Amino acid sequence: MNIAIIGLGLIGGSLGLALKRAGQASLKITGVPRREETIKLALQLGAIDEGTTDLAKGVADADLVFVCTPINLIIPIITEIAPKLKKGAIVTDVGSSKYEIVSQAEKLMPKGVYFVGGHPLAGKETTKLEAAEAGLFSNRTWVLTRTSKTSKKASEQVEQVVGLIGGLVVGMEPKIHDHVVAAVSHMPLAVAAALVNTVAGEEQKELMTKCVASGFRDTTRIASGDPILGVDMFKTNKKSVLKMIGAFKKSLTNLEKMIREGDGEKIREELTKAKQFRDAIYNEKPAG
Ligand code: NAP
Repeated sequence: MNIAIIGLGLIGGSLGLALKRAGQASLKITGVPRREETIKLALQLGAIDEGTTDLAKGVADADLVFVCTPINLIIPIITEIAPKLKKGAIVTDVGSSKYEIVSQAEKLMPKGVYFVGGHPLAGKETTKLEAAEAGLFSNRTWVLTRTSKTSKKASEQVEQVVGLIGGLVVGMEPKIHDHVVAAVSHMPLAVAAALVNTVAGEEQKELMTKCVASGFRDTTRIASGDPILGVDMFKTNKKSVLKMIGAFKKSLTNLEKMIREGDGEKIREELTKAKQFRDAIYNEKPAG
């Protein structure tokens, strides 16, 4: 199977490393980054078998194409490669919002070429190829979208490849995916950034900075990520993120009322509810 990875940053690079580590002699990985230096580095790291910066050349022979660029480039890139793909080819992506991408990408596929939207729920604050890790997707959820246009066979083929690198596939409609990740992936960034900026706006921020400990660090870790990825998340998942911000404000206002009223019993109940739900999540899931 010939696999093309367009965009060799944290996600594309980790995918290449993971596929190479899977050690399937029948897989050939072609990296298609923007710059020649990236090809050199990816070859040195052992993330690809060969590379080109020419999109058309990179996908000409591909059976499966992973588009791993920032979200705002995914549709322009798919538009460009669509007429160059061979019959039977499958295109997937890793963008962290799905409805806009999937609805447009499906329309762009020529007859006999298939699109299956994807999103690995794995990552870290440091992006770019230098931060890539072969084990990034191991035991992590990898969403594949399901729509009325999804080819079952194409989806199963993507699932097989994701399975090779330890990803745990979960099928989901794009709209449901966007609501789910708004809650558990995009909201943490909104909350972390708002909390950091609240402290940064305080007169006593110097003293506050001296007093930060692990609680602040753990709660705000995600605010150290690449702002460009965050802008893309919020812009392309606006409706669901706004809905979740509304729900979060309601929850915070509820807690504010309890604190204002000094109702210790209600506060304890609220914190216990949160502790139990969070503990149940992380007792079942490995940290990461
Ligand atoms: P990244 O580390 O910044 O990598 C993006 C890569 O795309 C870079 O290597 C960049 O090249 C390349 N690129 C930019 N324009 C290109 C073009 N025109 N043609 C080919 N390559 C191009 O970003 P990332 O973290 O891997 O994120 C990539 C995608 O994964 C995004 O859609 C994001 O939503 C999704 N995602 C990210 C995470 C995460 O935690 N980071 C998690 C899940 C999903 P240069 O190196 O030359 O700039």
